[in-house]
Amino acid sequence: MTLPIFALAVSSSPDPLPSRPLPLPALHASHGGNWLRQANSETGAVSKGEAIMAAADTPVLLLNAPLVANRLGYPDLSGLDLLELFAFVHPAHFCVPTPRGLAQALDMKEPDGDEAVPEFLQNAAGALIAAVEDPEWFERAGAWSALQTLERLRWPWAQALKPHVARPEKAEKWLFSALPEWEEAGERAPPRQVELPPADVLAQLDHLTGEGSEKREGQRDYARDAARIFAPRSKAEAPHIALAQAGTGIGKTLGYLAPASLWAAGSGGTVWVSTFTKNLQRQLRAESRRAWPLKRPDGTPPVVVRKGRENYLCLLNLEDALQGGFQGRPAILAQLVARWAAFTRDGDMIGGDLPGWLGTLFRKRGIAALTDQRGECIYAGCPHYRKCFIERAGRDSAQADLVIANHALVMVNAARGRDHAQRPTRLVFDEGHHVFEAADSTFAATLSGQEAIELRRWIMGPERKNRGRRRGLSARLADVASYDEQGGEAIETACEAGKALPSEGWLGRLAEGDPCGPLETLLAHARQTVYARDESGGAEAGYGIETEASGLPGEIIEAAGAAAAALAAIRTPLIQLGGRLEAIMADPPDWLDGQGRARIDGARHSLSWRVDLLSAWGALLERLGGPADPEFVDWLAVDRSDAREFDVGIHRRWLDPMKPFARTVLEPSHGVMLTSATLTDRIEDEGKAWDAAIARSGAAHVESSPMLTNAVSPFDYASRAEVLIVTDIKRGDLPGLAGAYARLIEASQGGVLGLFTAIRRLRAVHGRIADRLAREGLPLYAQHVDPIDTGTLVDIFRDDPRASLLGTDALRDGVDVPGRSLRCVVLEAVPWPRPDILHKARRAANGGSAYDDRIIRARLAQAFGRLIRGREDQGHFVALSSAFPSRLLTAFPKGATVRRVTLDEALHRIENGLIGETTGPGSLPQDAQIAGPLGDSIPDGFA
Ligand code: SF4
Repeated sequence: MTLPIFALAVSSSPDPLPSRPLPLPALHASHGGNWLRQANSETGAVSKGEAIMAAADTPVLLLNAPLVANRLGYPDLSGLDLLELFAFVHPAHFCVPTPRGLAQALDMKEPDGDEAVPEFLQNAAGALIAAVEDPEWFERAGAWSALQTLERLRWPWAQALKPHVARPEKAEKWLFSALPEWEEAGERAPPRQVELPPADVLAQLDHLTGEGSEKREGQRDYARDAARIFAPRSKAEAPHIALAQAGTGIGKTLGYLAPASLWAAGSGGTVWVSTFTKNLQRQLRAESRRAWPLKRPDGTPPVVVRKGRENYLCLLNLEDALQGGFQGRPAILAQLVARWAAFTRDGDMIGGDLPGWLGTLFRKRGIAALTDQRGECIYAGCPHYRKCFIERAGRDSAQADLVIANHALVMVNAARGRDHAQRPTRLVFDEGHHVFEAADSTFAATLSGQEAIELRRWIMGPERKNRGRRRGLSARLADVASYDEQGGEAIETACEAGKALPSEGWLGRLAEGDPCGPLETLLAHARQTVYARDESGGAEAGYGIETEASGLPGEIIEAAGAAAAALAAIRTPLIQLGGRLEAIMADPPDWLDGQGRARIDGARHSLSWRVDLLSAWGALLERLGGPADPEFVDWLAVDRSDAREFDVGIHRRWLDPMKPFARTVLEPSHGVMLTSATLTDRIEDEGKAWDAAIARSGAAHVESSPMLTNAVSPFDYASRAEVLIVTDIKRGDLPGLAGAYARLIEASQGGVLGLFTAIRRLRAVHGRIADRLAREGLPLYAQHVDPIDTGTLVDIFRDDPRASLLGTDALRDGVDVPGRSLRCVVLEAVPWPRPDILHKARRAANGGSAYDDRIIRARLAQAFGRLIRGREDQGHFVALSSAFPSRLLTAFPKGATVRRVTLDEALHRIENGLIGETTGPGSLPQDAQIAGPLGDSIPDGFA
């Protein structure tokens, strides 16, 4: 694409010039239509064909090209995307990727409707170009040099920007020399044992909530109870365990941060708070400012957000990408990421300050390739080791008062962390209802094609050219191999044995019945068995399919034996190599400096992780054909998406994953709290409400009795929320379902979160109603449809009170949108658990249908919890289910009115904002059945 050369006037004055619209055509496409504005003329509506032709003829200004392409049904669309320009001009800045969001980020007036968007894009482009002329432009460092490269890469914006980015007087530092180095700190002493008197905890809570703020009794009780986990432990392997049900709005975050900050100050130790969602991590980071400053006097941060290493930018991967590892569009992405890397807070690419939309603009897995996905880090052997974001986060967290992490990281660290001294001993699991599923995946064993090929790459390195720096064992430990003969032999043997693992193209060979090597042969048999036994109908429908690992044919048992022998042949030299590395560390040669030691230490750690993985696979294979182990559930599966196979494997899960959780996380800890708004079961018999919470906490497997706390939500649900069970939409009636969604969104004028249990239905509903709603100025976004990551979709939804959002599980309890933007939650059906093999085994072991009911009530409570986030929030929760069992209604909070109504009645109540007992003027004759307020007895006959 050739861009006409033009330039805005360059200012020589210190004040920025007022911006002028960029004189280029601009295109906007929504579900409501398409609008084109030529450089200096009027905006006009155009057909999809005309829009595509215009974009092909001349470069057009666009916002979010993949989304526009999706709306036009033309995947090859390209142009001058303002989001790319924004990422260059203001890297590491937040921007919701919509016209409204961009207007807010640039402090401009937002366009009034779709038709005004093209003119806005011209103005916004002008404003961004004017920003780079501002002498005070904060992100100037490195911009000129980056632009030279971007011009060579034919980045469409380069020509537009070039006349406006002044050449620096002194040569700019290269990113990798400009980044600061982390400081090595001495080992931290173990924490002092301290008591937290309740009066001190309350005084600290008052301090955090602010002088003169309202004293909330529920929050004060909660803080006092949370403080008990910080008391000195009286017996080894018997931590203080607290389970705290915390109703929405009690202020649980400050409730536990009060004792946590007090304990950290008094003991000199670190408290870890673990969350399930990135959203809560963000919130915690903000709330922690009340207790801790941004930096200590020595410049170190007292609060650190810690994630898995695969979240952070790997500078070595970025360097490779900048130096030719990435070509074409991905090379442009690498340049924009390098701009961001110079200004980022902590290098976190997933949910940090890198805009979530940046990766999707480039449509490939570019972002993932810039992180350390495969544990290929070469530690001190890396030229950027002293600046590495991952190493910095690890060091900072060892010295921090508060570490904000996630459940998976806490468990992985506990199970195979490098440094025992750094393991958390005082832990708060917020969103504690997710601990069970996080433990379930952490302690699972999966021998699949994808997992095995990852191991092959880790051992043998790239087997094709142009795979960047990805290197195998022999390259990573070349110095060890040349110094230590036995170590060198072990590496060679492991590489030779690694050839037994699946290689590129394995899925195709399996499908053609032509597997190569013992592992592929095993997987081919597994695949064949799964297809042969499938009775779910999933094979025809395109879903993933599975079968129990019992009664397996002889060939698969035989293949498992050969595969186990091949895995053992890899494991043995890896163990030997680990031994050699230990010997080198014990008696280090002269050439081994501090950095070399750190690298060998890193290699030892990643070796032991792979040895453990191989052992777990060996155990899994040994079990095939043998007697069933009641502790585990084993099955074979073919994973598919839209009828395309993407993995084949053998799976093993603990029947109760809280057993290994108790051993690896609880026992070594001194104090652990699990807290959540949906920790307990919502049943009539309150005495039994804790049973499942205790079972799902792992507390039953350690020698301590959990302390139980229940802080009731202060919200007045009776006047703020109403549950409407719509009884006249038949199951399976897709047009009826789509029509109901459209009418509910219209009645509510947007602000609807639509939750689905099946992606297929979500897509079908979206396809039927998005255009109709857009014409009424009600934008509809959807997971699995819009090419936008989930976090950004929620940002868009939060930002626009007329927008609605459709999604699946991840949105059921990952959305925190207080205020008017979310005023109606619509559930398409009762969220029954999927009856897969694992579920069936746990169901049988945990009380049958009562187990299902517990899961559904928890899901309903989580979905309902999206609705009322603040004291002023109000709205409707709609379930489109003619057969909604009464026994599940306790899922909703006490006080909330539940009505069984027709769709028309529901629309009437939503349109008129009728909640609870209110009928209001002009209401329908009230023949709707009222099933609550909950807490009173629920009338019979609603099942
Ligand atoms: S130390 Fe490891 S993770 Fe960090 S930049 Fe180097 S290779 Fe990447």
